[in-house]
Amino acid sequence: MAFSIVDLYREVLPKTNCRDCGLATCLAFAGMVISEKLELRTCPHLPPELVEKVQRELDEQHSKGKWTKKDPAQDALEWAKERAASISLKDLPQRIGGTLKRQGDTVFLEVPYFSGTVRIQEGGITKEDGSPLNHWEQVFLYNHVAMGGCREPEGKWKGLEQIPNTVSKVKSMRDGVEEPLIQRFRGRPHELLSAGTALGGLNVKERYPSADVALFFRVLPMVHVLLLYWDEEEGERFDARVKVLFDANITEHLDIESMIFLSERLRQLLCGAAC
Ligand code: SF4
Repeated sequence: MAFSIVDLYREVLPKTNCRDCGLATCLAFAGMVISEKLELRTCPHLPPELVEKVQRELDEQHSKGKWTKKDPAQDALEWAKERAASISLKDLPQRIGGTLKRQGDTVFLEVPYFSGTVRIQEGGITKEDGSPLNHWEQVFLYNHVAMGGCREPEGKWKGLEQIPNTVSKVKSMRDGVEEPLIQRFRGRPHELLSAGTALGGLNVKERYPSADVALFFRVLPMVHVLLLYWDEEEGERFDARVKVLFDANITEHLDIESMIFLSERLRQLLCGAAC
């Protein structure tokens, strides 16, 4: 058999997220083993005979090029769907907000999402018109459904680096979100402001006067994001900077992987096809 990331996570790893391997979660470790050929024995909590047996199978599948360089979003999505599968729809409004509705025999939850809504029902999560969401959106929405606690956003902001166990993700945020936004909007803060407001973001510059653009996004009822942008200042040799901040209660509602997927989706929506 060929192990996928989810197979390895589900069938072999201890699922304790102890971080003794240097990675934040067992799922992240599984991704490194399958896609990057990290040796299984790097996890010190597996019996040697199991390591030997599974590593033999992994070596064989790697030699055939199976599963390596697989789209990590696909595995993350399968995992997120599995986590959400046991959640009862009727418990969701209290945990993540939204309104339960009925259409014929179908009951679904309608949840505000950026400037539109998404529809959560037994068969999955879609846009309001029933069309599919992209991978990034599906991963963080399913994880939000699975995790969503009841604590409301509290209006205090944290950068990713202030949230525990995010060291390995800070670079992903910089390379996949902040840097492309800088490239796209350097010297054009007004374009960022109009892209953000078109997406339902509120202009909150008066609260953050040092930033050239300050946008508050109520991405979902319980998931709030603040985006601050400082444009380059040629005379003073300051390059442009972007900061994506999350509400202090974010870890009740999204795991760290999902925060990155959400930020990447925000970047895609702001940039359009340009980055
Ligand atoms: S050391 Fe093993 S159990 Fe701990 S997080 Fe890594 S893979 Fe999971």
